[in-house]
Amino acid sequence: MTGNGKSAKPRKIPLRRCTGCGESFPKKELIRVVRGPDGTVSLDFTGKAGGRGAYVCKKTACFKKARKQNRFKTALEVNIPDEVLSALEEKIALCEKEEAEKAAAKRAD
Ligand SMILES: [Zn+2]
Repeated sequence: MTGNGKSAKPRKIPLRRCTGCGESFPKKELIRVVRGPDGTVSLDFTGKAGGRGAYVCKKTACFKKARKQNRFKTALEVNIPDEVLSALEEKIALCEKEEAEKAAAKRAD
């Protein structure tokens, strides 16, 4: 057994650039950081929230890199309080863990 439904060619996937590592990935593999209409910055898991957005990998390493270089502030054109960034970083860490668990479950299949 080699394939598990991997034969179908993927359609053209919209790529977005990670604010941290600067590489392009399919939108689905990234997390959108969005600045809401009231200026608050949060994670947008639907990808549909209105407002200015920046993408980052589901990796704390990428988030930290972007954070350190103030890239979210530049991309979103807003000052982001440190505690907000820390909260986002925690959520990304959770996502990273979830992704790792999913990948592990896949391998065990
Ligand atoms: Zn990245």
